[in-house]
Amino acid sequence: MARDTARDFLRQIIDADLEAGRYQEVVTRFPPEPNGYLHIGHAKSVLLNYGLAQEYGGRFHLRFDDTNPLKEESEYEEAIIRDVRWLGADFGEHLYHASDYFERFYAYAERLIEKGLAFVCSQSLEEMRATRGTVTEPGVPSPDRDRPIEENLDLFRRMRAGEFGDGELTLRAKIDMASPNMKLRDPPLYRIRHARHHRTGDAWCIYPMYDFAHCLSDYIEGITHSICTLEFENNRALYDWILDSLDIAEPRPHQYEFARLEMEYTVTSKRRLLQLVQEGHVRGWDDPRMMTIAGLRRRGVTPEAIRKFCDDIGVAKTNSTVEMERLDHWIREDLNARAPRVMAVLDPLEVVLMDWTGGTEMLDAPSWPHDIGKPGSRPLPFSGRLFIEREDFEENPPPGFRRLVPGGEVRLRHAYVIRCERVVKDEAGWIVRLECTHDRMTADGKNPEGRKVPGTIHWVSAEHAFEAEVRLYDRLFSDPNPTGHPDRDFHEFLNPDSLRTVTGKLEPSLKEAQPGDRFQFERIGYFTVDTVDSEAGRPVFNRTIGLRDSWAKAGAAEDLARRRKEKAARKERQRQAGTESSRPDLSDEARALAEAHGLARHEAEVLSERKDLSALFEEAVAAGAEPRRAASWIVGDLVALEREGVDLSKVQGTALAELSRLIREGTLTTTAAKSVLERLAREGGTPSEWVERLGLRALTDEAALRRLVDEVVAAHPDEAARYRAGKKGLIGFFVGAVMKEAKGAADPKKVRVLLQARLDET
Ligand code: ATP
Ligand code: MG
Repeated sequence: MARDTARDFLRQIIDADLEAGRYQEVVTRFPPEPNGYLHIGHAKSVLLNYGLAQEYGGRFHLRFDDTNPLKEESEYEEAIIRDVRWLGADFGEHLYHASDYFERFYAYAERLIEKGLAFVCSQSLEEMRATRGTVTEPGVPSPDRDRPIEENLDLFRRMRAGEFGDGELTLRAKIDMASPNMKLRDPPLYRIRHARHHRTGDAWCIYPMYDFAHCLSDYIEGITHSICTLEFENNRALYDWILDSLDIAEPRPHQYEFARLEMEYTVTSKRRLLQLVQEGHVRGWDDPRMMTIAGLRRRGVTPEAIRKFCDDIGVAKTNSTVEMERLDHWIREDLNARAPRVMAVLDPLEVVLMDWTGGTEMLDAPSWPHDIGKPGSRPLPFSGRLFIEREDFEENPPPGFRRLVPGGEVRLRHAYVIRCERVVKDEAGWIVRLECTHDRMTADGKNPEGRKVPGTIHWVSAEHAFEAEVRLYDRLFSDPNPTGHPDRDFHEFLNPDSLRTVTGKLEPSLKEAQPGDRFQFERIGYFTVDTVDSEAGRPVFNRTIGLRDSWAKAGAAEDLARRRKEKAARKERQRQAGTESSRPDLSDEARALAEAHGLARHEAEVLSERKDLSALFEEAVAAGAEPRRAASWIVGDLVALEREGVDLSKVQGTALAELSRLIREGTLTTTAAKSVLERLAREGGTPSEWVERLGLRALTDEAALRRLVDEVVAAHPDEAARYRAGKKGLIGFFVGAVMKEAKGAADPKKVRVLLQARLDET
């Protein structure tokens, strides 16, 4: 398949651990510090940890790493819980706080002292820093390093009792002042802070350092795979040293690092996000321009879109910055199928139909384009006075302009073809009104023979429209890497046009829209009803995202232009080298495809370059497949199979449409659909047949699950024998194997019970 998430390095490690019977169950955690709201990078971590637990039928914990009393607030905790839940990462009853373990941390610290592995040090933070040495030179040991154990214990107890002031003493690990890993040069484990903690109050005046608290929290909770970002690579040695020094035996947690998610045109540091909030550059942590989960939610982005985006970027071991367009793509792809179509005019120009004699005509306007395949419509009033978008009229049209021009015709969406007879201007030459006529023969999309098909534009009836505040959000920064300029402050790159507020004229059906509802304003973009500032009958709309990438169109992103140029140059070189196909200028075709179906650029490109694939695509769409899904299957999955040598001629467009329908109906998960797709390509047949044959539909019913369990046990006789001989830890391996076979479409708890029953009978 295009990208096999089952094969990233973390999953390989877990597979190996389970196969060796190291753990009975996979237990992961997300450990935020409650000192700010979660951002898109955290979403990656949440979904990765949760996803692994899910996939292997294990457990996922949410743990607040609340060991620093100075920075934390309960407002942040509540926000984080809300965001993690909203992302769909269900931690069930597994909500924990590191501060709940303070007493146990303390006991472990005393044990380290008793073993001669920690000492109380009177050096100040500055002294410690000054004597730590460099990467090439060893550090100078603290004069207190060899303090007798009894004295250390006494001092540490008195530290706890509050006899010393902040910073007067610390507890340090006694490791190796010459270690090439600076983290191992007698790092501090506890410091004194006479500060009130938001949960433990004044119970403590000594607080553990991150490195000490983190590995022990993982251990206390039975975490198996402690996944963090790459900057903690050097901390791993300390993580292991602490657990080993405390004689914590296997199976114990181990730390693994993966690459942070960084995105262009944004900042993902809580400190900087806080600055943006405090300095008033945005209206709060949930400002729709912020790349926080709360901001994305308020902007109208769905958790599904974020999940698809995170799946798409996968898990890497090297840091990289992801293009914003990639997230935008998944937001559009997700909203396309979930946002009903409506009409709104954001920059109104009045149109008067001179030949309109009736009053109001009620149209029945479908809320979905036919290819989405959903039923539903809304009444849409039409009358002799309308508003259209000012930019849909051009007095001096450039070549190729397909909208309204003097003396020209255009179709009004769901209504009539109109002709512009006269342009009315004020003294200053500003167009105030268009006088038009309409053709009754063209009602309801009809097009009498012989008539040239004009372009279609959106409109609202002037007397029925209502005015609403519409917030047009754009990127918060105008530079792809606002914090990446050593000589310039990131504030310099704040985009002054990141929020533009207009008063739109909206079709009346929107008046009752509820906070959080999502719509596509036809030809403009996706919008959601603001959850904070809307009132009953007075919705405020946030633009979630435009239909097309206006950012790129406006040429505002220089780097995008540069990337395009490089690509064009590459193509040109290929063309000169004769490696590119000889067909003339295909990009118009690609653009048409992309616009007609809302496809991603590269998808449209591939389709336009391959006649066979575009035929398959057209056939699929005509048969009712969702265009974006069909395109992604064809360009992503099928092309990947083709590279493996699979001949794609067995795949029918109607089969893709059927597959698409099975997903829509909830019969099939998207993951399961991919396995069906692969079978279709390799062996032909119909989706329904494969769903039955692979038992994908039936996994909710116990008999099918039992069958799968039997198969998996039968396929692993050695492991089964070892399990029966007492290596009960292998249960985790079996659960993982069944979940994999089930493509995630089974309840892991049930799987575990069935497996145990099956393995225990002989
Ligand atoms: P700060 O911005 O203050 O350094 P942080 O972003 O590291 O804080 P934490 O609350 O410590 O925030 O992070 C919780 C978890 O989220 C950690 O496991 C961390 O590794 C992970 N995480 C943080 N930022 C990212 C990111 N950009 N991509 C992926 N994971 C991240
Ligand atoms: Mg952190």
